[in-house]
Amino acid sequence: MLEVENVTTRFRSRRGVVHAVNGVSFRVGSSEIVGIVGESGCGKSATIRSVLGLIQPPGEIVGGRAVFDGTDLLAIPAGALRRLRGSEIGFVAQNPFGSLNPILSVAAQFHNLIVAHRGRLSRKQTRDMALQALQSVGISGPERVLDGYAHELSGGMAQRVVIGMATVLGPRLLVADEPTTALDMTIQRQILDLLQDLVRKRERSMILVTHDLGVVAQYCDRVVVMYAGKVIETGPTAQVFARPAHPYTQALLGSVPRRGEEIGILAGRVPSLIDYPPGCAFSNRCVHALDRCARIVPASRPVAGEDGWNVSCHLVSGDADPLSREEDVRAHRAG
Ligand code: SF4
Repeated sequence: MLEVENVTTRFRSRRGVVHAVNGVSFRVGSSEIVGIVGESGCGKSATIRSVLGLIQPPGEIVGGRAVFDGTDLLAIPAGALRRLRGSEIGFVAQNPFGSLNPILSVAAQFHNLIVAHRGRLSRKQTRDMALQALQSVGISGPERVLDGYAHELSGGMAQRVVIGMATVLGPRLLVADEPTTALDMTIQRQILDLLQDLVRKRERSMILVTHDLGVVAQYCDRVVVMYAGKVIETGPTAQVFARPAHPYTQALLGSVPRRGEEIGILAGRVPSLIDYPPGCAFSNRCVHALDRCARIVPASRPVAGEDGWNVSCHLVSGDADPLSREEDVRAHRAG
């Protein structure tokens, strides 16, 4: 359904060019939930915003493709992408109140959204569609909510309204960027269960961006692990979580953050995205780092015998760099 290939996005800042997204590739199949996970600042949201055409200057997409059902989202005019976004691709952002207009009633916002994509429809028609959407996201008393405004909603209710708006036109792909971060713990699970339910029942697909490994384990068919603006491991969630191949994934899973706890308890820090390191971006924190790691960028390679499981690490089998792993290990031990 969606094939993201080598997407690269930079931001210009006073301190220099920020290498926010560096050749990111992953795919989302039909009826699949894919989790994008990593520490804060690892490029998860920038990747999603690049794919959806939501990068604003001083940000710039400098390369790559994002092919959605045969259409490269990065190559089509902004108007065509806007039409796809909302009708074919629904987006749920982190802060629901940032997505809702404070001076329009919920009904008016549904109306504007629907007529922007479906043409002239009466208020009665769009209200009926909105009512159905609000019922499908578990809002009791949807009439009252439709006639209300964003400031009258609780955080959980506002996110349900946003999900209703994101799904009212029946998109085939839903993109949820940390959709529960702004909500309290009890509401978080309800919202995630709701998203999963909507996607599974309608046989749709979803990209779920999160920093919570527990959420990935529970809700995602496949996982994309990002580090310093790159995908360092991607594969079926069950296999990757059972036998993580990349030292970063191993460290994340080894640290076992409690549910809702942000990743970021590994020793050391993510490298600067301005002075981007020349080799493996994880080499300053990696307990297995070899001599070549700080110099040579590891290519993404399939884990032997596994379909759709790829890892970027010199230690993974199939590495075709000139030095063998054994030579590296010997050199590392000697030095
Ligand atoms: Fe560690 Fe080297 Fe693999 Fe990077 S390439 S994760 S530094 S072993």
